[in-house]
Amino acid sequence: MGGITIEDMTAAGALLEGHFKLSSGRHSSRYMQCALYLAEPARAEAAGRQLAARLKSAAAQIVVAPALGGVIIGHEVARALVDVPFFFTERADGEMVLRRGFAIEPGSRVLVVEDVVTTGGSTREVMDVVSRQGGVVVGVAAIVNRSGQENPFAPLPFTALLTVEVPSWAPEACPLCASGVPLAKPGSRPDAIPR
Ligand code: ZN
Repeated sequence: MGGITIEDMTAAGALLEGHFKLSSGRHSSRYMQCALYLAEPARAEAAGRQLAARLKSAAAQIVVAPALGGVIIGHEVARALVDVPFFFTERADGEMVLRRGFAIEPGSRVLVVEDVVTTGGSTREVMDVVSRQGGVVVGVAAIVNRSGQENPFAPLPFTALLTVEVPSWAPEACPLCASGVPLAKPGSRPDAIPR
């Protein structure tokens, strides 16, 4: 099914082109803020429906996503799967955990949902939480795959609505700095959400 294009992300104001300092300290020519894509409930719902349709055959019984980034899309995927509950993990003292009474019955089939997969690290932490509770991860779904790999979670099924390259460089190796392009700090713009 369809997916999302770079143009869709850009039109939503969720993908900026320029010269940015990422939270890692590295510089990039692109900045992605998936929350702006999900700011329109209709877009979030449609994205959830598409991901659910693509991984329907995984027959998930529970959807789990990491807070905060995965909460909106995880909820939409669970809703689209119908009669599937949605749980979220969160960090407590730096460790990814399930709290709030969310409990996974041993043997439950679990779909892990993310907004953006970059290194896949936080997704794997969620997968570990699920496994420790005896759940069985049956697939991973994301809005955006910027990992540079087709499936960072192989052999598990993985799908993303948009695959995008977000090049980044150490500041001293940044070609944009070298050509004198001014550095913008993403996320600090005081103007309204672009639509
Ligand atoms: Zn730079």
